[in-house]
Amino acid sequence: MTKRYFSDDFIRMLRNHVPIDTVIALLNIEARIAHNLFRFRCPLCGKFHTAVEQNTNLARCFDCKQNFNPIDMVMTAMNSSFIEAVQFLEDNINP
Ligand SMILES: [Zn+2]
Repeated sequence: MTKRYFSDDFIRMLRNHVPIDTVIALLNIEARIAHNLFRFRCPLCGKFHTAVEQNTNLARCFDCKQNFNPIDMVMTAMNSSFIEAVQFLEDNINP
């Protein structure tokens, strides 16, 4: 297996510029709109007490008190390593 290296700029781009709701869709995480709010099924607790923040590009679970950036979300949903998550995003997203 070839080792791949990622620059800090690339990691930062993934965190900040890959829309978190796109990542949620890509991971086939169940999502719904309730009272005009986008909610997703938390990959940790499975509940929908969640929200996404467009300006910070973070997804939050209020029950777990956890924020997820795009890389965190992939790591948690796929139970993958940091590098695997970055590779997944690179392979699935056209920045
Ligand atoms: Zn949760």
